[in-house]
Amino acid sequence: MSPDPKPTKRTAAIVDAVRRAARQEQFLEVVSAVEARRRFEERIARSPLAAELLPLAAALYRVIAADVVAPVDAPPFDRANVDGFAVRAADTIGASPGTPKLFVLNAEVIACGVDPAVEVTAGTATAIATGGVIPRGADAVVMIEQTELMEGDAAPSIALRRAAASGQFISYAGSDIARGETLLRRGTRIGSREVGMLAACGLSSVEVVRRPRVGVLSTGDELVEPGRPLRPGGVYDSNGAIVAAAVAEAGGEAVSFGAYPDDEATLERAMRRALDSCDIVVLSGGTSKGAGDLSHRVVSRLGSPGILVHGVALKPGKPLCLAVIGDKPLIVLPGFPTSAIFTFHAFVAPIIRARAGLASEAARTVRARVPVRIASELGREEFVLVSLIAADDGLIAFPTGKGSGAVTAFSQADGFLAIDALASALDADSEAEVTLIGENERAPDLVIMGSHDIALDVVVGALAERGFHARTIAVGSLGGVHAARRGECDLAPVHLVDPTSGIYNKHLLAPGLALVPGWRRMQGFIFRPGDARFEGRNVDEALELALADPAILMVNRNAGSGTRVLVDGLLRGARPSGYANQPRSHNAVAAAIAQRRADWGVAIEPVARLYGLAFLPIAPEQYDFLLVEARRDRPAVRQFLEVLRDEPTRTRIRALGMEPG
Ligand code: AMP
Ligand code: MG
Repeated sequence: MSPDPKPTKRTAAIVDAVRRAARQEQFLEVVSAVEARRRFEERIARSPLAAELLPLAAALYRVIAADVVAPVDAPPFDRANVDGFAVRAADTIGASPGTPKLFVLNAEVIACGVDPAVEVTAGTATAIATGGVIPRGADAVVMIEQTELMEGDAAPSIALRRAAASGQFISYAGSDIARGETLLRRGTRIGSREVGMLAACGLSSVEVVRRPRVGVLSTGDELVEPGRPLRPGGVYDSNGAIVAAAVAEAGGEAVSFGAYPDDEATLERAMRRALDSCDIVVLSGGTSKGAGDLSHRVVSRLGSPGILVHGVALKPGKPLCLAVIGDKPLIVLPGFPTSAIFTFHAFVAPIIRARAGLASEAARTVRARVPVRIASELGREEFVLVSLIAADDGLIAFPTGKGSGAVTAFSQADGFLAIDALASALDADSEAEVTLIGENERAPDLVIMGSHDIALDVVVGALAERGFHARTIAVGSLGGVHAARRGECDLAPVHLVDPTSGIYNKHLLAPGLALVPGWRRMQGFIFRPGDARFEGRNVDEALELALADPAILMVNRNAGSGTRVLVDGLLRGARPSGYANQPRSHNAVAAAIAQRRADWGVAIEPVARLYGLAFLPIAPEQYDFLLVEARRDRPAVRQFLEVLRDEPTRTRIRALGMEPG
């Protein structure tokens, strides 16, 4: 039998489709992932969009547009933590159940919201409620349970059965939030904690970055909207949902346009609508050979500059298409769900994050052993999703082993590893670097424990802009020294003077620690401007006067702080009234003086300025960092040291009144 010389119309169509499917791939030019990103990013804007002012109630999950500096202290005053009596700790020495001490009650009861009027003088006590303002003269609160009310003919008094230490049951002004400190950094996403912090400072609105609007479309004749019955051959449009959610996670506002059949005219109309109303457009599907590269053809008609990249040497994700229409990025993701999500995270999420004002995320990587051999295609950089398992000898990375069509592969993976384009396999038991994915709670990249300073906020802020998240824990200089010696932190900011040599910080060095110069800050005698007792005098005169008049109250600092060493040096053994009042920060000292609970103290110049106080310079002190040598090579530590020396950082430190070293 001879073959049918005249094929029917139907067979002709089939043959045509098979030819089309078998045709060579139509990628313009397959480029590396690095080259693809370079071409794309040089054509698109990556700066945060304009700011908008939102009421706090509407600001949840939005991104802070400009650093928020705390305008007030929280608590705003030294505050009682229990119901009881405000006393002078020195008067309680020796009190015990057998030998209670008597205190005459002052004619005042400090409930919440009451501004105290009566000074607590020797041998007296003032009734105070939890949350009450500590009155002038008092430096401790005793619990009501430790006292007994004495009601006789004489003035009402209490008997106290237990001695109190200075500072007992007091929260000092600014111990929660210190005025002038960077409360929230630009690029921070607002959660309930941030809302609370803003409200605690009295702020009712906040400047946030406008969210980029991202149009999300899917194409495929087989696609069915979730919620509808699945017809034979149908597949639920999962990309549309997952991409929209990932857009929101990256800080964008997803605008869902739904799924379209593989029809060029319909898809083109939808794409044009999306481009009109959105900042970025993401389409998934229509990329395989079978579809004849429908999406590519549609995108090529939308406008200039048009398609920049079509085909990337990476697996999964080869058919990725990157375009710019006007000034709007347009991305076609491969239809296969794992490929779509992978390429979204690699190429689209960083742009959305940048436009949304979120700091770029430094890639978090861990080293892990790969127990099995993974074959790989030559010529394409291959990304393999892995699950991580903690073993005795470290982490083990198992390939999740699902193809690029799997929806769950990405969500179940802890990270991915890359196999070089030039390797045909990763051998069993190789060590690999795994890049972590997902929103799992992020451990800090850098731990800083010691004395806090507002210029430290500048350095930490610059570090955050490079994608590194530092946690600062204010434990005072001595606390920092101990933490560094025990290796509990990476860096310890300190400012302690060696009383014998007069040199700062060098004496704190121990084996395994290095000293990194920070900046100098001027310490001084501070008082309320217009206080005639101090106005117009120099430090020595002011000090002499303060020591001579018992009605003048000082506010001290906590033992272990550098400032305390300075104060004790100035006082040369004298113990003026108020010495026992020992808050733990410059801010609390300034607040006590500004609020007339004390008359003078020692603090740094920028803080004095912040509270509108007068300042008589005493001596510069050196604020340096103890560096734990074993951690010097960590990426976040290296970045910190770099940022510290960076000219823009130094300029900002100078603007705060410090001199960088
Ligand atoms: P395509 O890029 O259109 O050739 O699609 C490749 C594969 O991904 C096919 O198996 C499609 O069914 C699947 N796919 C495409 N778009 C989606 C989508 N929106 N949701 C789920 N699967 C999809
Ligand atoms: Mg398709």
